[in-house]
Parts: sequence; C-alpha cells; structure tokens
Amino acid sequence: MKVGIVGGGIGGLSTALALENAGIDYHLHEQASAFGEVGAGIMLTPDIVELLDQWGIGDNLRKKANAIADLSIFDHLGKKIISTPTQLFGYFIHRADLIQVLSEKIPAERFSLGQPIKAITQANNKVSITYQDQSHQYDLLIAADGIRSNIRQQVLPKIQPRYTKQTSWRGIAEIDTPMKWENSLCELWGENLRFGFVKISTNKWAWYAFKWIKPTDPTADQDPAEFLSNLFNNFHPQVNTIIANTKHFIKTDLYDIPPHKANWYHDKICFIGDSIHAITPHVAQGACQAIESAHVLTTLLKREQSIEQALQAYTKFRRSRIHFITRISHFFGAFSHVRTKAGYHRLFWSLRIAPSSIIAWLIGRINTIPKV
Ligand SMILES: Cc1cc2nc3c(=O)[nH]c(=O)nc-3n(C[C@H](O)[C@H](O)[C@H](O)COP(=O)(O)OP(=O)(O)OC[C@H]3O[C@@H](n4cnc5c(N)ncnc54)[C@H](O)[C@@H]3O)c2cc1C
Repeated sequence: MKVGIVGGGIGGLSTALALENAGIDYHLHEQASAFGEVGAGIMLTPDIVELLDQWGIGDNLRKKANAIADLSIFDHLGKKIISTPTQLFGYFIHRADLIQVLSEKIPAERFSLGQPIKAITQANNKVSITYQDQSHQYDLLIAADGIRSNIRQQVLPKIQPRYTKQTSWRGIAEIDTPMKWENSLCELWGENLRFGFVKISTNKWAWYAFKWIKPTDPTADQDPAEFLSNLFNNFHPQVNTIIANTKHFIKTDLYDIPPHKANWYHDKICFIGDSIHAITPHVAQGACQAIESAHVLTTLLKREQSIEQALQAYTKFRRSRIHFITRISHFFGAFSHVRTKAGYHRLFWSLRIAPSSIIAWLIGRINTIPKV
C-alpha cells in the first residue's frame, strides 16, 4: 500500500510519523517551502504526549515544553474562581518547537515542500495528484490540508466550516522579570473577554485572548497592541505586561466544522485534522484530536483486511468522540463569554458550585484516548 498525504501541519506530520512507525509506505506533499507554524503556543494533553512516546518523540517534546499542573480560572482582577483537580493538566509548547519535534523524525525522501496540490483524480482504485508536470499515484490519499481543505471542497462540498462570531488573538511575550502563576495555565474572565497565559520557557509566555466581535467591527483592525491594551486595561496588570512585551500578534476568527453525518472519506481519499474535524480552541483539542486521528487511522490500516474496511472503521470509531468534543468546545465558548454583568455573576457562581467530580470526569473524558 502506498499512501499520499497532502498538508504538513500538525495533522499531516503526525500522520507521516504514525505511518513511518507502522512501516507503511507514504509520501507527504506540503505547499509551503518549509514546515512551520504561527508564533504562538499550543497545549497537548498528557495522553497525547504518551502517544508521541510510542513514536519516539515524547522526550524531545517534554524537553521543549512546560508541564502545566492545572488550569486556573480567575476574575478579571486575578481573584481565583476555580482550579482543575489535576496533577498534570498538559504540556504547553511553542508551535514552532512542536513542528520541529514532529518533523525531525521524518526522513527527507518522504516529503516534498513547495507543492500546492490542486488537481486530484480517482480511477481504477487509485488516487492521482498532480503538481506542475509531476504526477503521483497512491492507493490512499490522506487530506490533512486544514479547515479550508481544497480536497474536501472537491469531494465532500457539503461539509462547510461554521463561523462562531468569536475572534482570537495570540502571541508570545518575552519577559525577563519574574511573574505570578508560572506553573498553571491561567485564564482571566471578564464581560465578553477572556485572556489566557502560560509560561512556556525561561522568559517566554504564550497567551491568547477571545472575544465575541463582528467581523466588520473596524476597531478590531486597529494596531493590535493598542486595541488589546485598551480592551484589557481594567484587567490584572500582568495581562497588560504580557501585551506590552509581545512583538507579533496573530488574529484569527474562530470557525469549526459542526458535527455531521457524512463519512470521513470518499472512495480512496480520507480526511484528518481540521480538514474534517476542526474544533474551536476553547478546550485546546484541535491538534490533539488530529494526532489521535493519525494514530487511529494508522492502527486500522495495519489491522483491517482492506483500505475500505479501515476507512469505514475509522469514521465509525472517531465520529462520536469528535462530535462530543466539538459540542463541548462550542458550548464552552458561548458559556464563557457572557455579555452582561448579571450573567457574569451567575457564571462565576455556577463555576464555584460545580462539583469537582464532574469537572474531573469531563477532563478525563476529553483527555483519555480510547483503545482502538
Ligand atoms: C487560537 C487557537 C488556539 C488553539 N490552541 C490549541 C491548543 O492549545 N491545543 C490543541 O490541540 N489545538 C489548538 N488549536 C487547534 C489547532 O491549532 C488545529 O486544530 C491544528 O493546528 C490543525 O492542524 P491541521 O494539520 O489539521 O491543519 P493546519 O494546521 O491548517 O495545516 C494544514 C497544512 O496543509 C497545508 N496545505 C493546505 N492546502 C494545501 C495544498 N493544496 N497542497 C499542499 N499543502 C496544503 C498548509 O500549508 C498547512 O501546512 C488552536 C486553534 C486556534 C485557532
């Protein structure tokens, strides 16, 4: 069996690593001239890092990441509302470091860079892709080309991203002086505003901010440093120190792929990651689920009698878990952005009385990788 992968983000690189470890022949095509990611942080759950151990890269990741004990939620002034009852909540890492850790174990002859794949044909049980004058034929093509997937638009056009009306800003702040809350992922919640931050290395803090905002709202297109420091000016001073020490800001309108009943494949083209199951970032699961999908799909390709059986089993096995996480994340995004003072007090009251057993159950359900 020869497998082609289109896309070398976290989903495509994880798929390549999983196939490499399973001894399945593959080649990855990425449109950019180098593997890369935006300048922001990302969190991976402990189970995902244990999966990376099976692929021989878990220790490399741990060396570059900060192990986070818990997620703590505060009001906008830094008064603690709740902490997750965990020993190890996850690992926070710079995205560029994650891409480096994932890509360095993939042999150079297994990937081609600078190849935007547009033309795809399926005939005689094979998939052909063409780039300029080169054509490649595969028994299975895995599309890991992101939420705007060109391949999905060709073969599963009914599946469309859903706009959540929320926007995110992200960045990395460089701060040499000591600050509070070094071992937790901290979120400060205000009215229709959330600011999260976490230390990722000696002097680097990854951060993110979320807000309901109309895409046409012109204020959002101002200088981001000025816009954000005005937005968060009544928050705990650490928030404004982080904004003031950030050089590059990344603004992303938030979309997901809403739960759908379509198969995650079309003949011999299969989808993985944001191309089929993009999740809003509110439970930090999009990349974790892309890695989990790579693991499940590869295991089934090794185990099942035929590619068709593996693809059917992959959709069946993954669908309900992804739907659950997508819905929880969507709900959490709405729940955590109330827009009135009364709603804000009700929100904190409900967080304070939420039984820790329910929170622990929810985290366990999201973070535990079911056995394939
Ligand atoms: C604000 C924010 C915070 C987040 N935080 C977290 C977090 O903490 N934890 C977590 O698990 N997830 C998080 N996520 C989600 C996570 O970033 C995504 O789920 C993940 O990066 C998706 O990876 P992917 O490989 O599927 O897609 P992408 O990252 O979009 O990669 C697609 C790749 O395909 C390539 N490509 C596209 N078209 C073509 C083509 N035609 N030919 C060749 N190559 C092509 C692109 O260049 C790219 O390299 C967050 C998302 C956001 C927006």
